[in-house]
Amino acid sequence: MTPTVLALAGGVGGAKLAVGLAKVLPPERLTIVVNTGDDEVFHGLHVSPDLDTMMYALAGLTNTVTGWGVAGDTFNGLALLRRYGADTWFNLGDKDLATHIRRTQLLREGGTLSQATESLCRSLGILHRVVPMSDAALRTVVETGEGALAFQDYFVKHRCEPVAKAVRFEDGGGRDVGSTGAVGPSPAFLGALDEASVLVYCPSNPFLSIAPVLALKGVRERVRSFQGPRVAVSPIVGREALRGPAAKLLAELGYEVSCRGVAEQYAGLCDVFVIDEVDRDQARAVEALGMRVVVAPTVMISDVDKERLARRILDMVGGANSEDGGVRTA
Ligand code: GDP
Ligand code: CA
Repeated sequence: MTPTVLALAGGVGGAKLAVGLAKVLPPERLTIVVNTGDDEVFHGLHVSPDLDTMMYALAGLTNTVTGWGVAGDTFNGLALLRRYGADTWFNLGDKDLATHIRRTQLLREGGTLSQATESLCRSLGILHRVVPMSDAALRTVVETGEGALAFQDYFVKHRCEPVAKAVRFEDGGGRDVGSTGAVGPSPAFLGALDEASVLVYCPSNPFLSIAPVLALKGVRERVRSFQGPRVAVSPIVGREALRGPAAKLLAELGYEVSCRGVAEQYAGLCDVFVIDEVDRDQARAVEALGMRVVVAPTVMISDVDKERLARRILDMVGGANSEDGGVRTA
């Protein structure tokens, strides 16, 4: 039977596996829940970088050179904004700006972020459900040696250079949600938590892309008691991140820089952990965290790679109830 999959994702790494899942699952069998902890207002526009990366990937619009933004985009709008004296450290292409203008317009007309996202996806011909993790603001804040930095300040303006001491999340009023759990998941995310038979953690940054999703009210508990197999793919391959600060953050936050260090973040929340073939020697250490380990090629360059990994995940959950556990190889 075809499983019903709930995939949790950030931007670039998450979108790669999501594209694969969308190729092998019919639209009604996949819900992709995307991190919005990176959202920020630039030039009065609501920018949702991870949702944009996901939408562009699923619509085949991605700029494959940079990994973000729209292929062939130009930056004339930004250049004029700079001339007007606006702060333009956050790169926004001309086509990309249209997405943010339209999203902001839909939000101003009273729509939720879920509704705005649905509208944008429909227009781009995306058939699978892409939903923001929440309709309310939950903002990622990185505590660094240079003080607390809003996510995009840390990620783009400071290029992840300040040493991170902690990552925390604030609600729209600037209150720490760690203590209150005040921000709830979006309706479609809640629905998928009820209905999905498989939960997949895409190979996204565990601290910056997945932790915000898990920090939403009630989500960690729901994932802990999830009704089906929970599968994670490591974003760390060969003790390095393929891009971005995942390895740097693991080290700075006191974890081993390895797929095991990632797996530790998902202990009790994951049943099967997929590690790359180059990390085969770490299988036992990951298993010691109480997960089954699957060794497979996890580097996704082409669409064929993405589809192959997605298929492999679905194949393994088909047999996830069997008792033959242990290390499996592709
Ligand atoms: P962001 O929001 O754009 O930073 O993207 P994500 O959080 O979704 O993904 C970032 C992570 O994806 C990084 O830690 C990368 O190491 C990982 N990543 C990127 N491409 C691949 C890939 O092809 N395979 C695996 N396993 N991880 C990848
Ligand atoms: Ca992101």
